[in-house]
Amino acid sequence: MPELPEVETVRRYLDSKLPGDRITAVTVDLPRLIKNRTEDAFRRALTDRVFRAADRKGKYLILRLDGPESLMVHLRMTGRLVFQEDESLPDPPYTRIRFSLERGKLTYGDVRTLGDLWIIPSEGKTGISGYDTLGPDAIGDAFTPDYLYRKLKGTSRSVKAVILDQTVVAGVGNIYADEALFLAGIRPSRHADRVTKAESAKLCDAIRSVMLGSIDAGGTTFRDFLDGAGHEGGNVENLRVYGRDGEPCTVCGTEIQLTKIAGRGTRYCPKCQK
Ligand SMILES: [Zn+2]
Repeated sequence: MPELPEVETVRRYLDSKLPGDRITAVTVDLPRLIKNRTEDAFRRALTDRVFRAADRKGKYLILRLDGPESLMVHLRMTGRLVFQEDESLPDPPYTRIRFSLERGKLTYGDVRTLGDLWIIPSEGKTGISGYDTLGPDAIGDAFTPDYLYRKLKGTSRSVKAVILDQTVVAGVGNIYADEALFLAGIRPSRHADRVTKAESAKLCDAIRSVMLGSIDAGGTTFRDFLDGAGHEGGNVENLRVYGRDGEPCTVCGTEIQLTKIAGRGTRYCPKCQK
């Protein structure tokens, strides 16, 4: 499931390829992926528009266009945006929407078809509540130790539930929540208001560092993620707890435990994380 680093990996690739290119045609095989327009209105909004930039906040990707409206995408479980310079190449598997460009093509593929595409105003609020209520981006400047400490202090929810809450911090999902809590030495089940100021600072740094480390590795491919060029990411080797339950902790050798917190499978080291 793509989280911030995977979406950022896709964004960087698309931002290096799309700007200046014009959409010449849009083919929609699965209209229900488009959440706030009819298929015809979606095609009309995008055809003949020129890409300006690829932006991201949290797990939302915004492909900015030269007109009053732009395209926003959430990949959810198995969505993929792939750019191919050679339009004669076959579409990647499970392609649901295809954007023909002057210089190649962009396809949206999705095995489980849970992704979302919206047309949004190019400026100002999007009108999409999931986006408009996002907290600061997990690798952005507004996500600071003081900010995180204030958010943790105000609730007795588990610390893991708080960092998974997209209105608190945008972009953290199950993989990087477990990894960051391991790095910070904090048990995922700990009540958020029991996290000290020093630990909050450690957790803030850990969230940023697991995200940036994964972006450097091209994202984490557990099952389905492919980057904007259709390649797998290399971050699985860096994971310390996620997917390693039953294996020895890389720091102390204790067996990594699997439990359920905030409704999600959660891995932690019972010795390193208090
Ligand atoms: Zn350990």
